[in-house]
Amino acid sequence: MTMDKNAQLFERARQVIPGGVNSPVRAFNAVGGTPAFIARAQGAHLFDANDKRYVDYIGSWGPMILGHGHPQVLSAVQAALLEGFSFGAPTEREIALSEAILKLMPSMDMVRLVSSGTEAGMSAIRLARGYTGRNKIIKFNGCYHGHADALLVKAGSGLATFGASSSAGVPAQVVQDTIVLEYNDIGQLEEAFAKYDGQIACVIMEPIAGNMNFVRASTAFTRRISELTQEHGALLIYDEVMTGFRVALGSAQSLYAQQIPGFKPDITVLGKVIGGGMPMAAFGARREIMEKLSPLGPVYQAGTLSGNPIATACGLQTLSLISQPGFHEALHAKTGQLMAGLKAEADAAGVPFSVDHQGGLFGFFLLPELPSHYEAVMKSDKPLFNKFFHGMLARGHYFAPALYEAGFVSSAHTDADIQATIEAARDVFKTL
Ligand code: PMP
Repeated sequence: MTMDKNAQLFERARQVIPGGVNSPVRAFNAVGGTPAFIARAQGAHLFDANDKRYVDYIGSWGPMILGHGHPQVLSAVQAALLEGFSFGAPTEREIALSEAILKLMPSMDMVRLVSSGTEAGMSAIRLARGYTGRNKIIKFNGCYHGHADALLVKAGSGLATFGASSSAGVPAQVVQDTIVLEYNDIGQLEEAFAKYDGQIACVIMEPIAGNMNFVRASTAFTRRISELTQEHGALLIYDEVMTGFRVALGSAQSLYAQQIPGFKPDITVLGKVIGGGMPMAAFGARREIMEKLSPLGPVYQAGTLSGNPIATACGLQTLSLISQPGFHEALHAKTGQLMAGLKAEADAAGVPFSVDHQGGLFGFFLLPELPSHYEAVMKSDKPLFNKFFHGMLARGHYFAPALYEAGFVSSAHTDADIQATIEAARDVFKTL
């Protein structure tokens, strides 16, 4: 009998780490079963503790857009390691990474580097409140912006009542200024702005929501958010932690600007790809907003490891490689190939299935039609999804272990990888 090292490690992990994991979704609590403990990764492949190989459609939840262990990224990181791990003092590479980000995202004049998306989102909210002198914020049901207290809020029952905290340990007072609305619902948005006229500091949104699988904000919804925030002196915060540099070189905001002339968010939140797998995130805006930040202005924000020299080296090399002409077009085509293949196999097996993708981000639903908001996403057949997930995992194809998570393709995925996944799905769909 072969020993299952994943099971052994999971048992050991659970003794010392809550749930055995350092971020909840890794525990497979949504799908059941034992998580694979990853020993190493190369290109588009993960290898677990049993040395089983998987085609990786998570990519560390977004950062690994070039796949794992890209040789040029590795050498940039190796060179940086020899120079020192962290100085707590400014470095030239922070300027270079900031310049590289700003060049690709003209909505921002300045950017501040931090270490996680949570930190970036939390700081962006503080900045918006500090800049506007207002307290209320609007977020959308199903969008995730990290685990800052004010953002851990469930949708309430209508606008009269504010959402309740979605986590123990968050006092009601802390979320009393957070208004939760349904994604893609223009009516609710108009109602909220009318009701709280002059009180709303900002609207924070994922332009393509990757935390309820894959749901695009409609152009009409985005246009209305932009109009209402401008009319009411509120700021639009675009959380592009997931979409940034992944759905297009100019990120999701460049795609919406093609539909809505002159469109740009006021503040952008970034993470994942800009660190290439190292702890790195950022938030940026036009100069007058960013100059409110400490040490120039009254909004405090800081970090011991912010702008870390290894992370900036990794991020810079990653941004440089994905800036090559045609990179995102090729990635979009490859992701499209996977989606079309899965859809064809599901159709052939008579399984209800809908797909969408942009660049290297994708979503598939065990639903006949693409959903446009959280409630619709959660109508997916959970047991059916879990069966699909485990069927694919057993065959060596690693999708996100929850039906409300997006999927990720990297430039390291080969046609053979994609084809193998489609063939495995053919078998799995027959079992559903
Ligand atoms: N915003 C979005 C859109 C995210 O997807 C995430 C994480 N998945 C975050 C913020 C939080 O980032 P982090 O996990 O780095 O704190």
